[in-house]
Amino acid sequence: MTYAIGLTGGIGSGKTTVANLFATHGITIIDTDAIAHGITAPGGAAMPAIRREFGDAFVAPDGSLDRARMREAVFTDDAAKARLEAITHPLIRTECERAAAEAEGPYLIFVVPLLVESGTWKTRVQRVLVVDCTEETQIARVMSRNRFTREQVQAIMARQASRAQRLAAADDVIDNDVHDAPLAPQVDRLHAAYLQLVRQTGGE
Ligand code: ATP
Repeated sequence: MTYAIGLTGGIGSGKTTVANLFATHGITIIDTDAIAHGITAPGGAAMPAIRREFGDAFVAPDGSLDRARMREAVFTDDAAKARLEAITHPLIRTECERAAAEAEGPYLIFVVPLLVESGTWKTRVQRVLVVDCTEETQIARVMSRNRFTREQVQAIMARQASRAQRLAAADDVIDNDVHDAPLAPQVDRLHAAYLQLVRQTGGE
């Protein structure tokens, strides 16, 4: 099995930015958000079950998931969220395994926004890498990127693990605050450390 790193962090922490830097080292990035998006696109693997379970009202005219409607439905309804995840999670898992089997390179990175919140992801990766920044930085970034209000960002953050919970689960941390250590040297250092770990564990 390929050595796998689980990369996580709160909304707007910089997961994608960090993953792109690892990709410049030739590391395969498997983005669970992109997979989730793909299976709910027109003709996506999750769409027949979503239509059956939730009804036509949740399917847009092009056959994709009506994301706004579903977001609203599951935001405060944990039972609906569980029903949706019972459909999507096994499909995401299968797709991750398929992509991992095809991956080349010494190790691979799964980008999993809710890794700390999830029961199973921690056991499916060799190390957990947390992209960390202050909550104020998260709020500022997401307000400017998504044109959200402070309250909207805070409502999303309230449903994610706290910064402290995430750091407690981390094997490695990348500091991605605006005024702190630049990213590329941190990524370079971790990449070297991961290559070393792969060698020690008898990987490629
Ligand atoms: P999400 O969970 O919301 O998808 P993410 O954790 O993948 O977010 P990014 O998309 O990488 O985070 O970054 C969020 C926003 O902040 C982006 O607009 C990105 O360009 C910006 N950003 C991230 N890191 C930095 C940085 N070090 N300096 C300046 N801008 C940054």
